[in-house]
Amino acid sequence: MEKMNKPLTKNINPDRAFATLADYESTGGYQGLRKAVTELQPKDVQQWVKDSGLRGRGGAGFGTGLKWSMVPMDADVPQTRYLIANADEMEPGTFKDRMLMEQDPHQLIEGMIIAAYAIQSNIAYIFLRGEYHLAAQRLEHALQEARSKNYLGEHILNSDFNLEIVLHTSAGRYICGEETALLNALEGKRATPRAKPPYPLVSGLWGKPTVVNNVETFCNVPHILHYGVEWYLGLGRGEDKGTKLFGASGRVNYPGLWELPMGIPIREIFEKYAGGMRSGYKLRGFLPGGASTDFLLPEHLDVLMDYEAVAKAGSRLGTGTLIVLDDKTCPVKMVLNLEQFFAKESCGWCTPCRDGLPWTVTLLKDIIAGKGRIEDLDTLTGLTRMLGPGNTFCALAPGAVEPLQSALKYFREDFERYIVADKESA
Ligand code: SF4
Repeated sequence: MEKMNKPLTKNINPDRAFATLADYESTGGYQGLRKAVTELQPKDVQQWVKDSGLRGRGGAGFGTGLKWSMVPMDADVPQTRYLIANADEMEPGTFKDRMLMEQDPHQLIEGMIIAAYAIQSNIAYIFLRGEYHLAAQRLEHALQEARSKNYLGEHILNSDFNLEIVLHTSAGRYICGEETALLNALEGKRATPRAKPPYPLVSGLWGKPTVVNNVETFCNVPHILHYGVEWYLGLGRGEDKGTKLFGASGRVNYPGLWELPMGIPIREIFEKYAGGMRSGYKLRGFLPGGASTDFLLPEHLDVLMDYEAVAKAGSRLGTGTLIVLDDKTCPVKMVLNLEQFFAKESCGWCTPCRDGLPWTVTLLKDIIAGKGRIEDLDTLTGLTRMLGPGNTFCALAPGAVEPLQSALKYFREDFERYIVADKESA
């Protein structure tokens, strides 16, 4: 029963070995696929996933079944459709997809095959972060195993459905995780985001309808098909359904990753699983969903890890991996570290991001070096607005300034201390 409560990690063990095809089949692996292709129509599979309430686990949280149902499938539209697993995991502090791919690669593959069946796609890609060498090896091995048992290839499980999955390793830029930049990269072009509309669901890879989902999203799908929608609905504790990999990093006792119900209170992740703060450190705040989310404070520990609940508290669920700020770490330096990453990873396509992010870095460096002025804090606040939603071509810049804007709100005295200390010593 314990394993049924943790479907995503039931084959994952602390020894970091990976589940072979035989291991995966012994715990119900590929039964969801069998049900899909032998008992259900593609539209039925879409409806099951829609009814399950599964939302994308890459950060945006769009309804997965709804997304699939928006792919044009009438006879008079293009019959070539593509499916892509976004495995370009590069968000600082986030390492959940890596564990899923390294230790249970068949789970991703089965989820992708079911998704491809649901949208009637015959070619799919895994767009993998270039540095994930071990995941690449294990996925390639698992793809071979799946082909050998007719889970992949022609007439899958004696049905009329054919599918090939190609493993593609990324050239290694953060922007490749943005779904339209990913499409450009896969087409061999410079990885810059595309204007939307048209949306990839209608005109994606090589102009054909394309579904892009995150690795963890696909990993939920086999279990929804195998164990049923009612079972899946019972897994979540709050508004959102199913389980999710939640993580914690920073000066906590047990940094790590755990599969837990959606809607679990942040306090439970922090205290019960991460073991609270290490001796000698106090909690000052945390980024709830990876590096491009707003800080929350200890007073927010009772917020539920649901998309809406975290948004109401002023941040985003993002990737669900907490980055913890302790009382001995300077939030200004922490934010500088993050802004340096995002400035380096800006694709340079639009001016506010290309020039604005390096400007935040310059101002933060000056403040830390004792060369800041109190007006710089207003300039930084203005920059967070200029780089906010609607002012840039993609979501990289708005995400990049989320930790900065919330640090200016919650930790302003830390910024001011550098400036005042400088004036006093002058
Ligand atoms: Fe590129 Fe940044 Fe503009 Fe996105 S916001 S298109 S990453 S320059």
